[in-house]
Parts: sequence; C-alpha cells; structure tokens
Amino acid sequence: MAKKDFYEVLGVNRDASDDDIKKAYRKLAMKYHPDRNPDSKDAEEKFKEIKAAYEILSDGQKRAAYDQYGHAGVDPQAGMGGGGAGFGGFDFGDIFSDIFGGQRGGGGGRSNVYRGSDLRYNMEITLEEAARGCEKQIRIPSHENCDVCHGSGAKPGTQPKTCATCGGHGQVRMSQGFFSIQQTCPTCHGSGKQITDPCHKCHGAGQVKTHKTLNVKIPAGVDEGDRIRLSGEGEPGQNGGPAGDLFVVTHIKKHSVFERDGMDLHCEMPISFATAALGGEVEIPTLDGMVKVKIAAETQSGKVYRVRGKGVKSVRGHDVGDLMCHVIVETPVSLTERQKELLREFEAISQGDVATHNPRANSFMDKLKDFFG
Ligand SMILES: [Zn+2]
Ligand SMILES: [Zn+2]
Repeated sequence: MAKKDFYEVLGVNRDASDDDIKKAYRKLAMKYHPDRNPDSKDAEEKFKEIKAAYEILSDGQKRAAYDQYGHAGVDPQAGMGGGGAGFGGFDFGDIFSDIFGGQRGGGGGRSNVYRGSDLRYNMEITLEEAARGCEKQIRIPSHENCDVCHGSGAKPGTQPKTCATCGGHGQVRMSQGFFSIQQTCPTCHGSGKQITDPCHKCHGAGQVKTHKTLNVKIPAGVDEGDRIRLSGEGEPGQNGGPAGDLFVVTHIKKHSVFERDGMDLHCEMPISFATAALGGEVEIPTLDGMVKVKIAAETQSGKVYRVRGKGVKSVRGHDVGDLMCHVIVETPVSLTERQKELLREFEAISQGDVATHNPRANSFMDKLKDFFG
C-alpha cells in the first residue's frame, strides 16, 4: 500500500510553519476522532494517517529526514532509522490520552482500577462424558493474599505510605507538546501507595502465586467448543478491580464407534450378506448398552436405520437425538472350500435371471450398452 504524502494528509504546504502544522492537526484530529465517528472504519483510517503524519512533521529532525528521503527516511520498517514513528501497532489508549487527557468514558480519576482478564481453559472430555454430563476437577494457577503481610505488601508492623509522586491519586499529569497527558503514576503503578518496607515473602506485591483446584460441572449434552463460565475465577483485578471470568472450553475426544452431529450420533452397521438378503436382527451398541435392530429382507449397503432417542440430549432442553446406523453389507472373507462351493452354486442358479435377482447390476449393464451404442 502506497503511503500518502504527510503534507497532503494534513492539508498544509511543504513550507508550513510548526504552528500551522499543529493547527491543521488539531482541527483534523477533532474531526476524525473515533469518538465522534463511531463505527466508521474510514474515519479511523483517516485518523491513523493524520496521527502518523503529525508525529513526523511535528518533530524537526524527522521532518527534515522526511523532506530529504520521503517515507523511507522515517519509516522504521524501511531500515533507515528515524525510529518510533508509530507505523506499527496502533493503540487507541494513546489517542484518547493525547487529545482528552485520559478522560475517556468520563471516568477520569480512578481509571487505574482494572478488571482482571478472562482466562480460557481447554478441557478434553469423552463423548460419553459429554452426553451424560460429568464433574471434573481442574488445577489452575492463581494468586492469593500473602499470609505474612495479609495482602498489604508491607512488612508486618509497618504501613504503606501515601505515594509522594501522585499524592495517592494513582495518576499524574504530564505535558507533552501542547497536550497534557494523564498517566498511571510511575512510582506506585496506580495503587496510590508506596511501600517503604516490603514484606520479605511477597516482595511488596501483597499476593503470592499458587494453584487452586476448581470443580467444574459439565452439563449433559455439551458439544465441541461449548464454553462453561466460572464467574470471578479469571485473573485477579488490579488496584481493587473485579476478577475476570474463567471459561472452560470443551473438546470432545474422537470416539471409536460413534460420530456426533449435534444431537444425533452416527455409526456404521456391518451386516453379513446373508442377513442383508434374508433379513434378520443385529445387535448394535449405543451409549447406554446394546440394542437390537431389525434388518428388513433385501437391505442394501448405505441404508440408514434410525434408532430413536439413542443420540445425545440437548444441552439446552429435554430433547434427545437419534442414533443413525449406516448399513454396510460385508463381503465374506477367508472362505472355506465348502463356502466357495455353495457360492458358486448360488451364482450358477442366479445367472439365469439377473434382471430379477440383481436389478441394480442389470440396469447398470443396460446403461453401459446405451453408452457404447
Ligand atoms: Zn507479603
Ligand atoms: Zn503514585
């Protein structure tokens, strides 16, 4: 993608003064700011361009390099140095603090309170466990309050002090260019407190790493990729923010007999060719034991027998799926002389009337005759 000329992006002449560039940037940045153009991808793109252009043209050194070498002079990806022009990752946090001093969402003061991240735990279960539901124990990394300082991070007998840098606000204002930027206090990292005598066990963190064991109830009927939410079991919040959630994502192991399709199960049902021809009864496995299936006479490969209610229960209601048995007529193998003899005899007496006994093979031969004229 060709990069646009930075002067063009800001709509200024190549000999524009620093002041003109600043004014042009401010005007355009306000106009295309994502807050004023929610859901507009175009505005967002435009805003990025404006910001990138301003970062170069507002810096005397970068502007000179750009004037002399063009984009190659300032694009870090072009390997010419110039560095930090901000073409790579794009952080909305930066923009909002640039223009509105970190006041996004009207919160202001306590924006250093964060909710912990949601975590994901992948759990493999068998098809039987998914169908019936089960209870599993998982062990996950966690944090707990340090038992020496009881979570304060301060050595027992001492107290954390109010942070001198930010006066306990957790945030400080800094001037950068013509904007005033609100930042998390670099001394206390937003907590507003300073620990002069840190606890020897947790080194001032107030928390220690540990593991916790959780019981997870897997409801009957869960399928591949379903998520079970364990509220508040995710990463702990920062500076008093709430913890995130833990999502247990189920993965169903491949089963040796059944294949699952939503609530239905499918399986192969091999039958002997005598049973296929004469009809009969076969036993087939289901998730809860063997059941008998009546095979009609003259059953062909590919016919599907539906066994009602032997699928998987819906995770959302009381409906239960079916078991679909796909007939495969098995050609007999390892035949004895006697068996071969009987088959040859069978074939010999069938030859006389192929149209009656093997209609499919017969119509196939007719089609071939048509085809070759
Ligand atoms: Zn401690
Ligand atoms: Zn501070």
